[in-house]
Amino acid sequence: MNNVIIIGSGCAGLTAAIYAGRANLNPLVIDGYEPGGQLSLTTMVENFPGFPDGILGPDLIENMRKQAQRFGAEFKAGAITEVDLSKRPFRITSGNEAFETRALIIASGATARMIGLESEKKLIGHGVSTCATCDGYFFRGKEIAVVGGGDSAMEEANFLSKFASRVHLLHRRPEFRASKIMVDRARANEKIHMVTPVVVEEISDVDKGGVESLTLRNTQTNEITNLAVEGVFIAIGHEPTTKVFRGQLDMDENGYLITHDGSQTNVPGVFAAGDVQDHHYRQAVTAAGSGCMAAIDAEKFLDAHKTF
Ligand code: NAP
Repeated sequence: MNNVIIIGSGCAGLTAAIYAGRANLNPLVIDGYEPGGQLSLTTMVENFPGFPDGILGPDLIENMRKQAQRFGAEFKAGAITEVDLSKRPFRITSGNEAFETRALIIASGATARMIGLESEKKLIGHGVSTCATCDGYFFRGKEIAVVGGGDSAMEEANFLSKFASRVHLLHRRPEFRASKIMVDRARANEKIHMVTPVVVEEISDVDKGGVESLTLRNTQTNEITNLAVEGVFIAIGHEPTTKVFRGQLDMDENGYLITHDGSQTNVPGVFAAGDVQDHHYRQAVTAAGSGCMAAIDAEKFLDAHKTF
């Protein structure tokens, strides 16, 4: 029997583990599909407080992991395949292993949707990014592209235009899914150049270890063109990792967990932190903050429910 199980080992899960560990709760962290979460896929992080010269995303995560271990957190590799939250203690299954826990913190995160190119995977953190807030600053005075036609793409293109010399907004259809006001704002921005209907077929140059150009295909004419850019931001949406909780926890229409009064879900004793319940801020520091909240909420819950 565990006091608290934490699902997910990104910034939110690890911060929850540090706080739960220091509260003597001996948390068990189940790593999840992507150990370390989205930070483990980035390079330099310059906006996490306390690191005046920046820190590499994987190093930041490794430090947090060590910090959690120092206070007694245990880690298990693997992803959750089933949960039973209908009664306490909750039952959590990961493959062949089953665990019982008095309280549960879900920090399973969200994954940025990717186009699906091999070159995109290889160049992530080296010119390919999924976070304008995190990486925009690196592209001062450079020509870049944003892929997507939703509100995120419009927002990121506008934000990036503060740094970049030119932002090419690439979308696969002539019409945009984004709200009219966001599209109008992007259209009115002189630095943003809309290119439709195109898909990115290749990102070059993997051999040189950085982005130099994109191969675009017009989805109506199949015409192939080349676009010279030094960075590309993929803004085609995120998927929260919540499938396993469907039918048991309240979610919004996009699958994000709904929290109230801090980190509480609709099931007493189940708390959520980080991107799995936040599609708005999505920052390492906000994920860390909500992981801290979830651990404090779980500790209070366990104090008030000592009978099981
Ligand atoms: P989204 O609304 O799902 O839009 C995703 C966009 O990416 C769509 O234009 C889609 O094209 C395109 N896309 C999807 N898969 C693709 C692929 N494989 N290759 C190329 N293009 C692809 O996602 P989002 O923009 O992240 O927004 C998510 C939610 O947050 C929405 O409800 C949005 O309104 C909200 N949001 C609001 C704000 C704001 O109001 N300030 C800001 C950001 C997000 P198609 O259109 O052709 O499907």
